[in-house]
Amino acid sequence: VSLADALAEVLDAGRVADGESALDQHAADLSYHPPHRPDAVVFPETTEEVARVLAFADRERIPVVPFGAATSLEGHVIPVAGGISLDLGRLNRILSVEPADLTAVVEPGVTRLALNERLGRDGLQFPVDPGADATLGGMAATNASGTTTVRYGGMRAHVLALEVVLAGGGVIRTGSRARKSSAGYDLTSLFVGSEGTLGVITELALRVHGIPEHAVAIRIAFPDLDAACRAAVAIVGAGVSATRLELLDAETLRAVNAYKGTSYEEAPSLFVELSGSDQGVAGDLEAARELAEDATAFQAERDPTARSRLWEARHHVLFALVAASPGKEHLSTDVCVPVSHLPDAVRHARAEIDRQGLTGTVVAHAGDGNYHVLFMLDPADPSELERARALNAAIVEWALEHGGTCTGEHGIGLGKIDYLQREHGDLLPLMRGVKALLDPNGIMNPGKVLPSQPE
Ligand SMILES: Cc1cc2nc3c(=O)[nH]c(=O)nc-3n(C[C@H](O)[C@H](O)[C@H](O)COP(=O)(O)OP(=O)(O)OC[C@H]3O[C@@H](n4cnc5c(N)ncnc54)[C@H](O)[C@@H]3O)c2cc1C
Repeated sequence: VSLADALAEVLDAGRVADGESALDQHAADLSYHPPHRPDAVVFPETTEEVARVLAFADRERIPVVPFGAATSLEGHVIPVAGGISLDLGRLNRILSVEPADLTAVVEPGVTRLALNERLGRDGLQFPVDPGADATLGGMAATNASGTTTVRYGGMRAHVLALEVVLAGGGVIRTGSRARKSSAGYDLTSLFVGSEGTLGVITELALRVHGIPEHAVAIRIAFPDLDAACRAAVAIVGAGVSATRLELLDAETLRAVNAYKGTSYEEAPSLFVELSGSDQGVAGDLEAARELAEDATAFQAERDPTARSRLWEARHHVLFALVAASPGKEHLSTDVCVPVSHLPDAVRHARAEIDRQGLTGTVVAHAGDGNYHVLFMLDPADPSELERARALNAAIVEWALEHGGTCTGEHGIGLGKIDYLQREHGDLLPLMRGVKALLDPNGIMNPGKVLPSQPE
């Protein structure tokens, strides 16, 4: 019998698919990593159904790869060993919103935009915003962050409690809806960032926030990238309370203007948001103006439509670059350094891009010291991928030598396994121990995060 037939015995047959298009849709992400099909796709609608699939898969030693919106960028959702792609898209209910507690409880397939639409009715927001409309389950599983992390923190700062189905089908609940807790080891944080390798998240209790009363978005253009980076560091160092502090280079802005029909200056720029009380914002705006001393343009927007257009443009940078390079594949670096090192780090990255003769653009969550070089690669030219990989390695090495990390937000997936070894080689036996305890038969997203051979 086929895997789909066997699964149809475990679940309602309507929850299982193995047609060509379902397999292809669950074979790839948006990155350069080569696709690989699962043998079947399952669409559970309850925690109990997830548990039944996992108990079956564990007994039969079949790999299971949780699948959210597949917007991750390091091959995370690619079922490299075949098996089951577990699509959580139908677990998409917002279970509760508690304005008085500033919490919300959701199923893992709820997307961040859907959650924000619901929260907006109560004057609330969920600020973690990877550019794509990712699922909350996928965002927790990658410890995602985004433009507002400089102010609010990333996913780990927002997940209060989880329901998780473990490999054998057991269901556990970690954390609580209280704002803080000292109750034992922090297993919630362990599952956040575990990339589907330790269990399947089936419910999340999240911290949410009020929408600030006043906000102003600023676009600041600079004569060069270095001046923009220095201004970002100065703004952080001066304690200006930026809600967002983003860096875009001239080439990125060119692609954005072409894709979104905007007319932003095509010069290295900071996109900044300040928010809070009227008086606080006015003070921060003045401070930002003084700190951006080399700026060639300083444009403040209070109008909500202009502000959301600006942030949508920022969120669509990757799509803009993809649209500008038809037929090419995308590779993005993602290191994070202590913020004072950002100007040197970006200078080093730019010099390496030129040395390798590549075309790459630089964008950064500058306030966090997290920057990306985005490459659009010609799949017909393997030397391009090789040079981009060499450059990725050089950028990671530089970050590690300066107190940074090989991934600020995208995670390890397939693409960063060697770098995890380089960054935390001494911790790999411990990490393997955790994996063996929670997933003794190694069915959960095999081939991701940990190197396949013990070091
Ligand atoms: C245009 C664009 C911009 C982006 N910008 C950012 C950014 O600014 N910051 C950032 O952090 N990321 C960014 N990303 C990457 C991506 O959006 C994030 O990694 C996001 O968190 C992935 O969520 P997803 O729902 O697509 O998860 P998927 O890609 O479907 O899955 C990601 C990983 O989580 C696992 N997983 C999914 N759901 C569950 C679950 N319920 N339980 C257990 N494991 C699960 C999967 O197995 C996989 O390993 C961007 C991507 C794009 C396309």
